Amino acid sequence: MSDITTTIEEQAEACGTEKIYCANCIHCKLVTAEGENHDEFYLRVRCDAGKWKKKLGEEKIHKYFTVARRSIDYCDMYEDMGDAEDFIKELRMTLPTKDESYEKKEII
Ligand code: SF4
Repeated sequence: MSDITTTIEEQAEACGTEKIYCANCIHCKLVTAEGENHDEFYLRVRCDAGKWKKKLGEEKIHKYFTVARRSIDYCDMYEDMGDAEDFIKELRMTLPTKDESYEKKEII
């Protein structure tokens, strides 16, 4: 008897699809988060399709500098924004290497 169990990764391979990078998806959004001081903020990313969840169901938000690492094998809501390989390569070169805070500028 043959084993008919396959993983999502095997199914994706069989379909000829590659790994999905969330950063290349239209639903991956850059947002700001308040810093400890009122005059600073941090950059975060969220999935506006509601796919990133913590164990208890709350939304999970990731630090911006980690966004190029967010990859999955399959997502039914993935909508690419172009060629992923070039985009991720470029993104990796421009992303900050750690969680940086940014200063708020007052608009007069
Ligand atoms: S919709 Fe899917 S592929 Fe797109 S950002 Fe959310 S989890 Fe990633």
